[in-house]
Amino acid sequence: MSSDFKMSVLASSSQGNSTYIETPNSKILVDAGLSGKKIEAAMTSIDKDIADVDAILVTHEHSDHIQGVGVLARKYGISVYANEGTWEQMAPKIGKTENIDKHIFEMGATKTLGDLDIESFGVSHDAREPQFYQFHYQGKSFAILTDTGYVSERVKKTIESADAYLMECNHDLEMLRNGSYAWSLKQRILSDRGHLSNDDGANTLMDVIGNSTKQIYLGHLSPENNLKKVAHETVAKDLIEHDFGVEHDFHINDTDPVKAQPLCDI
Ligand SMILES: [Zn+2]
Ligand SMILES: [Zn+2]
Repeated sequence: MSSDFKMSVLASSSQGNSTYIETPNSKILVDAGLSGKKIEAAMTSIDKDIADVDAILVTHEHSDHIQGVGVLARKYGISVYANEGTWEQMAPKIGKTENIDKHIFEMGATKTLGDLDIESFGVSHDAREPQFYQFHYQGKSFAILTDTGYVSERVKKTIESADAYLMECNHDLEMLRNGSYAWSLKQRILSDRGHLSNDDGANTLMDVIGNSTKQIYLGHLSPENNLKKVAHETVAKDLIEHDFGVEHDFHINDTDPVKAQPLCDI
């Protein structure tokens, strides 16, 4: 049965992130971390019009999450939500903000936008006040968790048993260790305030997947230190080894740095 709670990962990688979520009365983007033009094109590719988007929810001020925020907010009058720390850091980086419809979305708060209830939760990442979001509509939920070096029990409890996940699989440990990045950058990525590896993503999923979980998207892959195939195989293997019903109970989906995923029923 088709649902009227849908989402598409428009783009995901450590170079640019944006996810679209819709219900009959709400159309939301989480982050706009590519150029405005690329996000417009990604929306067109799934037969959606960026002009219909009500709000952009920003997770944190890194450029792979905010690059298109100012342009899209000004051009289409889209409201922008972020917590105070993120606003402070983001405002100087997104062009003129006087005419942007700015809102505060406090960490740990729940807000209702249209018919969608949205919960924010803090993560462990080297930004000012990074937070991610979980969406609730008619008893179903979709949780996004990327850009975190560590997943606390509190976060796991918050996103437990969602119907769909976008989960970070930033790097393959071996590829990162053997790769060309400077040692200091490797240390940053591996730290508690960096990013989740493929195995970290799998371990987190094992702790949060529930009976209602149907769709898992693997996201925020590093183009340098990961491959879709490696992320997918690592997560599938880890979950199968722990007796999860991969491709029976739920599907594992890839994401792409530039190509939008088909709209998915949550
Ligand atoms: Zn990022
Ligand atoms: Zn980040």
